[in-house]
Amino acid sequence: MKIAIIGTGYVGLTTGTCLADFGHQVTCVDNDPKKIEKLKQGKSPIFEPGLEELIAKNKQTGNLIFTDEIGPVVKDSEVIFICVNTPPKEDGHADLKYVEKVAREIAENINGEYKVIVDKSTVPVKTAEKVKETILRYSIDQAKFDVVSNPEFLKEGTAVKDTMEPDRIVIGADSQKAKEKMLEVYKPLIDKTNAPVKIVSVRSAELIKHGANTFLATKISFANLIAQTCEEAGADALEVLEAIGLDERIGRYFLNPGIGFGGSCFPKDIAAYKKTLEILGIDSSLVESVQKINESAIEKFLQKIEKELWVIDNKEIAVLGIAFKANTDDIRNAPALKLIKKLKSDGANIQAYDPQAMENAKKEIPDIKYFDNPYEAIKGVEALVICTEWDEFKNLDLQKIKELMVTPIIFDGRNIFNPAKMKELGFRYYGVGR
Ligand code: NAD
Repeated sequence: MKIAIIGTGYVGLTTGTCLADFGHQVTCVDNDPKKIEKLKQGKSPIFEPGLEELIAKNKQTGNLIFTDEIGPVVKDSEVIFICVNTPPKEDGHADLKYVEKVAREIAENINGEYKVIVDKSTVPVKTAEKVKETILRYSIDQAKFDVVSNPEFLKEGTAVKDTMEPDRIVIGADSQKAKEKMLEVYKPLIDKTNAPVKIVSVRSAELIKHGANTFLATKISFANLIAQTCEEAGADALEVLEAIGLDERIGRYFLNPGIGFGGSCFPKDIAAYKKTLEILGIDSSLVESVQKINESAIEKFLQKIEKELWVIDNKEIAVLGIAFKANTDDIRNAPALKLIKKLKSDGANIQAYDPQAMENAKKEIPDIKYFDNPYEAIKGVEALVICTEWDEFKNLDLQKIKELMVTPIIFDGRNIFNPAKMKELGFRYYGVGR
């Protein structure tokens, strides 16, 4: 099947590459010519394990093509996925200007043949109706199409694996013809993995994505609430949460305290869901509390640093991990950025290292020192702050770190080390909720 992917970012590039690997003929479009140029040379513009190899494989078979020209691709494709970014507006609601622009471009290029327009970007409920209205408003020909919602659940860092072995495939379609086309798109994956397929209404599909992300964010904020309770009451959050998570109705996954969630999805998606609730006249205080606890997680962590170091001005501080989570180069809304900016404004000299995110970080915070390995970053500092749970950090030589530091003080924002062991090694060690 001929498939178009509009927006070749984390979601579009992974989805397009995997669909090509299933045997479809996929053309990925992006309006960033630099991105397309890189992809044409066989290089992935993002770090995602296994992706570059899969791009190379499918480029070679001819199943995967890249272009910055949307028109011919719309004309030539049966199924068109919209995978553009949906950033937050100032009031928290999703900014749908990129989705609208793509809908208009589809309208201008749609021909008389039936097409399925698939909204894969995360959008508020009822967006598909607006996409349909837009296409009808701006199309020249008698456009024959359906708009489908097919939310994406991949996680950065395991995007290829998540797409190849999904927990579920959600298809929100209101016409039989569109449902059948979508099942055809996913047939190779369904046959291979037996992934559960939920065929629902378009509006339900749109709400499933916002609901899932709000629930996951709630789990993280709940873990941080327990951590804050443990710190005041003298208990250990990991002991408490591990036991709570053993209840199969609750589950252990995502019940980890830390410096809060960041990234390009949770903060904006829960803000957009909160806005949706307000528009629908529903109490949004649960979501507001999740946001408040998330903000307090990083603030309380910073207070811990300030309390221990007393004066921040002119202190050398190492920060390990800038990406918003492990196995990605994505720094959008990363808690580390907030932390570095605050410590810097208090006069600290920051020495930073991240295995994949430094190129992106240098654009956002150019005026700190970056190092090519963690030990170089730690050399001569008075404190070490861990902001991302990279495996590389879990395996560091702690004895060597102690020798490299002027004063062996560690603030572990991701609880990657054991407090008792750290104490035994002679560190002053601060985790979260421990
Ligand atoms: P991204 O910023 O990495 O990629 C979006 C791409 O769209 C960019 O390359 C941009 O240049 C391109 N684009 C924008 N307007 C365009 C246009 N008119 N024509 C062609 N290309 C255009 O974003 P992402 O992280 O891939 O997220 C895309 C959507 O998927 C968002 O709605 C996001 O919430 C959702 N989502 C993201 C993830 C994730 O982990 N990143 C997971 C699930 C869902």
